Amino acid sequence: MNPREDRSPGCLFCRIRDGEIPADIVYRRDGVLAFRDIDPRAPVHILVIPEKHISGLPEAEDSDRELLGRICRAAALIARRESIERSGYRLVVNSGPDAGQAVGHLHFHLLGGRGLGWPPG
Ligand code: 5GP
Ligand code: ZN
Repeated sequence: MNPREDRSPGCLFCRIRDGEIPADIVYRRDGVLAFRDIDPRAPVHILVIPEKHISGLPEAEDSDRELLGRICRAAALIARRESIERSGYRLVVNSGPDAGQAVGHLHFHLLGGRGLGWPPG
């Protein structure tokens, strides 16, 4: 698959998007991609990302508003498909060092399938 123009060099999630690194993809539509986290912290742990490279939430622009909305809608749909809509789930963005952001491509963690403590440690 040809790398996309909006690719960021070396970005792990751009490489997953381009099929260079395998992932268990559960959703792909309208510029939104979702795949299972490689190190799941809950029975359901899915990463929902924009296909275009955005480094993180601070880098999202006004013109990304619709895309961000589609990500939230996709997360809700995936939660329903994963049968965690009723039991509950959490949608989380880690931004920056204090939140432990490790990958510089915006991603929303969808977590569910067990009780989730609050606040996160
Ligand atoms: P962050 O800490 O940046 O919010 O979350 C990054 C997430 O990406 C982590 O939960 C980590 O397990 C996941 N991750 C890292 N490398 C890979 C990978 O190669 N494949 C998949 N599917 N997930 C990954
Ligand atoms: Zn990227």
